[in-house]
Amino acid sequence: MDKGKKLYEGKAKIIFEGPEKGTAIQHFKDDATAFNNQKKSTVEGKGVLNNRISEHILNNLNQIGIKTHLIKRLNMREQLIHLVDIMPVEFIVRNIATGSLTKRLGIPDGTVLSKPLIEYSYKNDDLGDPLVAKEHIIEFKWVKNESHLNLINNMCLRINDFMQGLFRGVGIKLVDFKLEFGIANINGVDKIILADEISPDTCRLWDVVSEKKLDKDRFRKDLGNVIQAYQEVARRLGIIHEDGNISEVKFGKPRAVNIKKN
Ligand code: C5P
Repeated sequence: MDKGKKLYEGKAKIIFEGPEKGTAIQHFKDDATAFNNQKKSTVEGKGVLNNRISEHILNNLNQIGIKTHLIKRLNMREQLIHLVDIMPVEFIVRNIATGSLTKRLGIPDGTVLSKPLIEYSYKNDDLGDPLVAKEHIIEFKWVKNESHLNLINNMCLRINDFMQGLFRGVGIKLVDFKLEFGIANINGVDKIILADEISPDTCRLWDVVSEKKLDKDRFRKDLGNVIQAYQEVARRLGIIHEDGNISEVKFGKPRAVNIKKN
């Protein structure tokens, strides 16, 4: 599928114009960044895995009635998506305290929260994505109105419930994750839809038994075996085979593809 001009390049993805009005192509890169771009590297094969993992999760969410930007995966690194006007807010959902929450409030790492906690940060690299309150979001119109914000909060909780079950079923604790939402005009109607990606780049995932980290914290904290951890998540979700190869169905015939060559 032909790509149009580049619309936006982020840390881990590029968005191109899509083939039709209202569509875009999301390309997953191997670049990894942390701490607001202070740490940068390339993790070979990460984009391919995130493309597949995010496709798997978003497809599942679409099936339970959560509207997402995903139309279909095009190839190893690209997805056809609805063009979305992204709200400048990151919605962070937490089930277990870790990361910036423990740093900020001194809560012991690993504390299980009595119910999911939703935090909001204002998407602004220059300001370091500061934590904001619901009132800021309404006041500065980062989300259309309070009822939109309530709808999005409910979507966050529903997505959390679903994803906790999905990961728990394959021996993984969903510790926390980040979501982004936007407005897309689909068939002439403006809809709130889940955008961006859901992958080990945007979630914290711990093995249920060993609590081994299977996510981007391996990169952030120099724990090593970053790609192996992402492969482990994809393997447990049934996306890749034991040998690390991805099963790619093309022209109706499955074939094994080595992620590093794509
Ligand atoms: O760093 P912090 O503890 O606030 O991160 C919470 C969750 O949100 C983690 O799963 C992290 O991967 C995700 N996150 C993200 N993108 C950001 C900030 C956080 O995916 N810009």
